[in-house]
Amino acid sequence: MIERRGIVLDLDDLHDEWPGLLHQANLNVLGLHNWSPEPEIRSKIDAMIRFFESAEGFRLANRLNNLSIGLEFELHAMCWLLPGEYYRRHPHWFRMDESGERTPHDNFCPSSEDALEVVRDHAIRLARKLQPTTGRYYMWQDDNKPWCRCESCRTYSDSDQNLLVMNAILEAVRTVDRHAKLSYLAYMATLESPPAKVRPHEGIFLEIAGPGIHRMNESGARGAAGDELFQQALARNLSIFGTEDAQVLEYWLDVSLQSRWRKPVSKLRFEEAAAARDIAYYRSQGIRSITSFGVFLDESYFQRHGIPPVEAYGRRLE
Ligand SMILES: [Zn+2]
Repeated sequence: MIERRGIVLDLDDLHDEWPGLLHQANLNVLGLHNWSPEPEIRSKIDAMIRFFESAEGFRLANRLNNLSIGLEFELHAMCWLLPGEYYRRHPHWFRMDESGERTPHDNFCPSSEDALEVVRDHAIRLARKLQPTTGRYYMWQDDNKPWCRCESCRTYSDSDQNLLVMNAILEAVRTVDRHAKLSYLAYMATLESPPAKVRPHEGIFLEIAGPGIHRMNESGARGAAGDELFQQALARNLSIFGTEDAQVLEYWLDVSLQSRWRKPVSKLRFEEAAAARDIAYYRSQGIRSITSFGVFLDESYFQRHGIPPVEAYGRRLE
């Protein structure tokens, strides 16, 4: 059996039916994600914090706990960890773009020790506010955005810059949770080439996004089991990060991707046999932690299309 069997939903997808359905499907991890049109990504994290401080949030957390379902927060967090408001006074903390301009948008300059200090402080704050019950933290870079091209950063690939920042975040989070582990997300620009100059600190684990997102514009896209380029990228990443804690983030239940992130969504097409082949492939690579996005499977989805095939997915992970 796959040890960690999860689904990743957006905060807005939560409703009363979810905990029971996860239990029936024998899933043991619920990840919460801050999907949002770009300007709202940061305020979505604030909304999540408020939710888990509310009575409703407490109730949900308790219910999951009683069902032995872990709760995690899978967040694009960089814009929260280093807010753009600092840009006016400290432009050199921020990313240099290809034309040599500093910009408050998209990640920041990891060569700036002062910027890293602010990121560490905010990471501690976020770890306290949204503490996972599994010890696994996810404070991803800005969604599919470039890293810094300044003189000091430019010889570091996006993968290296991302890992450098994740190492710093982990160090900070471990001051509040000694056994914390932190995801390094291999996705888009960081998928093909793992970090070459920076080494992962103990406690960093590989999280790799499945090929569904990387091949969305290609016809005849195959799943992980039939995608040789993806398999090579996975092998390269596993050789750097190790297999023990490695985690897959798939798209089998992601109706938001199938509907190109527009609501109302059409009915989810869950290709069970293909998912089963992919799962068998991941298992053969020694991966014991598998999750799938299920973003936009919200209450109105249940009303419109009925209960999504989460139990069928769960069975395949057994
Ligand atoms: Zn830089």
